[in-house]
Amino acid sequence: MRTVTGPTDRVVIVGAGLAGLSCALHLAAAGREVTVVEREPVPGGRAGRLSVGGFEFDTGPTVLTMPDLIAEPLAAVGEKLSDWLELTPIDPAYRAYYPDGSTLDVRSDTTRMAAEIAGVCGAREADGYLRFVDFTRQLWQLERDHFIDRNLDSPLDLLNLNLLRLLGMGAFRKLQPKINDYFRDPRTQRIFSFQAMYAGMAPHDALAVYAVIAYLDSVVGVYYPKGGMHAVPRALAGAAEKHGVTFRYDTTVERVVTQHGRATGVLTVGGELIPADTVVLNPDLPIAYRDLLPPRRSRRLKYSPSCVVLHIGSTQAYSKIAHHNIHFGTGWKRTFDEVINRGLLMSDPSLLVTNPTHTDPDAAPPGKQTYYVLAPAPNLETGPMNWRGGLAQRYADELLQTLEQRGYVGFRDGVEVERIITPADWADDGMAAGTPFAAAHSFSQTGPFRPANLHPELPNVVFTGSGTQPGVGVPMVLISGKLAASRITGGRG
Ligand SMILES: Cc1cc2nc3c(=O)[nH]c(=O)nc-3n(C[C@H](O)[C@H](O)[C@H](O)COP(=O)(O)OP(=O)(O)OC[C@H]3O[C@@H](n4cnc5c(N)ncnc54)[C@H](O)[C@@H]3O)c2cc1C
Repeated sequence: MRTVTGPTDRVVIVGAGLAGLSCALHLAAAGREVTVVEREPVPGGRAGRLSVGGFEFDTGPTVLTMPDLIAEPLAAVGEKLSDWLELTPIDPAYRAYYPDGSTLDVRSDTTRMAAEIAGVCGAREADGYLRFVDFTRQLWQLERDHFIDRNLDSPLDLLNLNLLRLLGMGAFRKLQPKINDYFRDPRTQRIFSFQAMYAGMAPHDALAVYAVIAYLDSVVGVYYPKGGMHAVPRALAGAAEKHGVTFRYDTTVERVVTQHGRATGVLTVGGELIPADTVVLNPDLPIAYRDLLPPRRSRRLKYSPSCVVLHIGSTQAYSKIAHHNIHFGTGWKRTFDEVINRGLLMSDPSLLVTNPTHTDPDAAPPGKQTYYVLAPAPNLETGPMNWRGGLAQRYADELLQTLEQRGYVGFRDGVEVERIITPADWADDGMAAGTPFAAAHSFSQTGPFRPANLHPELPNVVFTGSGTQPGVGVPMVLISGKLAASRITGGRG
């Protein structure tokens, strides 16, 4: 494994996103003197918090899987997850609503889930589900240690026995036909393949290796942290601080300072030079290259689709919904095609509606509700729309109308607080192509082909976060923090 050369005693990490925080904890555990420089007043980055009129909203991730990966950086400094976070399993993990009016509850208990599928789709489909669980469990075990939780310097690093095993399992076929080997009903086919979108791909284009995402959220389980998702970065930052990491909030880094082909520190917009032996960059990788580092020709990436998020504080409650609700539109291939390839808004939207107050009434004033509506949308490269010119509000109104039609009667009348976040806002926050989901996980942008976490010329600049290996999402960026740290310490990664 390639590592940072030269001294690594003083490390400056730019950004207190989940990746930066994970990296900080692993480095503190290895005895490094760590300073985290964050432009916002709080940690979390995309896992941020929005407080409006007594309503509390998580701004980014809502589906928390694999809490073990939060426990890992805490354990590195000798801390226990349960001392820092109170996690509640969400059951069902999702409730899926289909255009024919049927619903399916996704449960992590496989016996109950098989019974649910048998009840809704028939016994043969339930058998397919149990085979699918075996397949994805094996897939995750093979992928985790050898391809995800490991620094990869070259495609040659992939050549091991597990690659052959994965090939034998059909993991490099396309996801959708692989899913269809297990499921015949379009409803199960959808609920176990839509997660490809998290990786920025349509199920018919993504590799079957990405079936692990469905495994992580549908089989391993989904959790809600007391206080919302933002409690996760707060916990990690609290533990890091306890173990000697210095946090400089409200401090924006203008650029990495270099001398004789090495980084020597970072310069803040306030003109302060913070010296460092090694610099870790957590901002979105292409933007870090563009704004913070000496100019160099960079490779053109294909980005994941983006999303519009509506944060709604409401007086309306719906007794039939779950914490996470997925409303599938009629279109399937067409929807992915519109958002990913044609740069169009969905003509028949599939939406994720999260109702945090379902689990945590404290997220709203007494008797009120919070809703988080996520609509996949084209990124600004495939669909360069003028979100500022009234489109945001028009699209938000359209989404509210869709929700009314999908059973949220009186949704519009209940709105007390509304915030609309669009690809233009993600771009303003420093995310390439206006997407918070980074480069798509196509074959050529995955594993050793994804932008590396070591700078190609500056030997003491390391990247962490969703733009580098292993990829996007809370579990992956927590791993990415560990991988970045291991580039510095030379420990296992
Ligand atoms: C709407 C939405 C929904 C999502 N849903 C899920 C989900 O349900 N489940 C899931 O697992 N994942 C989800 N994700 C993805 C997940 O949130 C991200 O992959 C992850 O949080 C990214 O973490 P990061 O550390 O890579 O980056 P960030 O969180 O973006 O961290 C980068 C940090 O760098 C700081 N920074 C940037 N520039 C500077 C500078 N110049 N100086 C100082 N500081 C700077 C930023 O303020 C930020 O704190 C979602 C994301 C979004 C936005």
